[in-house]
Amino acid sequence: MLKGTEQNDDLELRWPGWSGVGRLIWRVVRLRCPYCGRGPVLRHWLGMRERCGTCHRPLQRGEHDYFIGSMMFNLVLSEALFIAVLALLLSFLPPPTPWDALERWIPVGMIAAPFLMFPFAKLTWLGFDLLFRPDRPPRRGRPA
Ligand SMILES: [Zn+2]
Repeated sequence: MLKGTEQNDDLELRWPGWSGVGRLIWRVVRLRCPYCGRGPVLRHWLGMRERCGTCHRPLQRGEHDYFIGSMMFNLVLSEALFIAVLALLLSFLPPPTPWDALERWIPVGMIAAPFLMFPFAKLTWLGFDLLFRPDRPPRRGRPA
């Protein structure tokens, strides 16, 4: 089992440590570059730049269909947003609970949430991948 920042060179995977995970989450929440913590990283809300505006490191890893994995994060983040908003509404709305209004507006929220969470999901996916597969120079004797 890997401990701390110990690396497994055979698998090219490494555990970044909890501080690395916390730093990544903080950068993603602020829609910042996972490498440098600055930006900009978005062209518009639904489009990510090819390179960070500050450090110019690639935000695309050059793999076909790379961001398909971000769909999983988008689903999880959208559901988490839905649960948080519903819990807040049910906690702070005075009785009686307006179930008719909730029945009308919850589907609207469920459609809107994936669009709201889209850039966060893409940056989370990129950051998650970078945590375990950081950019490094290719090793000698290996194809690039
Ligand atoms: Zn950057």
